[in-house]
Amino acid sequence: MIPPGKTLGILGGGQLGRMLGQAAQSLGYRMHVFEPAGPCPAGAVANKEVIASYDDTAALTAFARECAVVTYEFENIPSAPLAAIAPLVPLRPAAEVLHTTQNRQREKAWLRTHGFPHARYAEALDGDIAPAVADVGLPCVVKTADFGYDGKGQMKIADAADLERAVAIFRGRRCVVERWVEFACEVSVIVARSTTGETRAFPVAENIHTHHILDFSIVPARVAPTVSREAELLAAAIVEKLGVVGLLAVEMFVTTAGALLVNELAPRPHNSGHWSIDGCATSQFEQHVRAVCGLPLGAVDVREPTVMVNILGDAWKWENEKVVGDPNWAALLAEPRAKLHLYGKAEPRPGRKMGHFTVRAADAETALARARELKAQL
Ligand code: AMP
Repeated sequence: MIPPGKTLGILGGGQLGRMLGQAAQSLGYRMHVFEPAGPCPAGAVANKEVIASYDDTAALTAFARECAVVTYEFENIPSAPLAAIAPLVPLRPAAEVLHTTQNRQREKAWLRTHGFPHARYAEALDGDIAPAVADVGLPCVVKTADFGYDGKGQMKIADAADLERAVAIFRGRRCVVERWVEFACEVSVIVARSTTGETRAFPVAENIHTHHILDFSIVPARVAPTVSREAELLAAAIVEKLGVVGLLAVEMFVTTAGALLVNELAPRPHNSGHWSIDGCATSQFEQHVRAVCGLPLGAVDVREPTVMVNILGDAWKWENEKVVGDPNWAALLAEPRAKLHLYGKAEPRPGRKMGHFTVRAADAETALARARELKAQL
C-alpha cells in the first residue's frame, strides 16, 4: 500500500488529471503532473507541474523518481518513454494495458481474441479501406486506428459516394471499418480493479452524444435491470482479463434487440463517470487513486439519481468567432440541486470541454428534464 503523504504522478494535465489530483489531495497524497502542452488544468492544482515532452527521457525519469506511483489521464502517450520509467516506479494501469487500448486495431483484436461482444469489423490493410468495407457491408463507419477521440478521425459510409470520398480521405492511414450499429442507447460502465484483484463496477451510465461528443450521462441508465447487470458483469470480466490496476471505462452499445456490444475501452477516469463526484458514495477519481495506491476500493452506491451535462466552449456568447460573454452561470447557480464544475481552461473554443454540471433528483427522468432546462438557460 502506498500510504497518504506519498506522491502520485499523473501523465497528462487535462481536466481528468485535475479532478484526479484533487481526489488524491483530499486523501492526503501529493500530486505531480507531467504535461507537454504548457500550463494546464491539472497543473493549476498540482504540488508540482513539469512541462516537457513525453520524449524527454531525462525530464520523465526525474519526474518518476519523485513519485511513489505513476498513472495517466490520457491514452496517446508513446510507449517507448514509458519503458524508461518502468524500472523506477510502478505505472498503473500497466504499459501493456495502455498499448492495447490506445490503438483501435489492437483493442478490437483483443476483444475478438478474448470473445467479448463487439460490432463486426475489418482492418483496412495497405492503406485502402475498400476491401474492409466490402467485407463489413454498408452502412459502416471507418475509424483511424490511432489518436481518435470524440468522433475525430471517423466517417460514416452509407453509400457508394461516401465510399469514394472515404477511400481518398483515409488512403495510407491505419484504420478499422466497423459495421454501423442500430443502437437503442449507449451505456458505459466504469470498473475498478485493485492491486489485490478486487473489482467493483460503478452503476451503468446511459450516455447521449451530440455531434460525437458526450452531452448527457444519466444514472441510473434507463435500461432493463438484466441489461444493467449484464453490462456490469461484462465490464468486470474485461477489467480482469486485461489485468488493469486502476479504472477501466467500457463504452457499449445496447442494440435494439437488447444485446450489448463493446465499443471502446479507456484505462482511466472517463467523462461518463463525472456524475460520481456528486452522485455516488465514492467518485471515480477517488476510486482510481485508491486502486493505483493499493488501498481497498470504496463503495459505489448511487446517492441519488444524477444527470451530468458537459459544458463546451459553445456555451459562451460568441459574435464573429469571438467570445463576447460568459454562459449564464447565475441561472445554473440558482438551482440548489445543481453542482457546477469548471476546469480552469483560459480560452473557450467550440467543442472544447470547459466544465460540466450535475443535477440530482428523486428519479432519472426528473433529473434529465431539469438538466435540459438548465442547459438551455446557460
Ligand atoms: P467512438 O469514438 O468510437 O467512441 O465513437 C463516437 C460515437 O460515434 C459513439 O459514441 C457513437 O455514438 C458513434 N458510433 C461509433 N461507432 C459506431 C457504430 N459502429 N455504429 C453506430 N454508431 C457508432
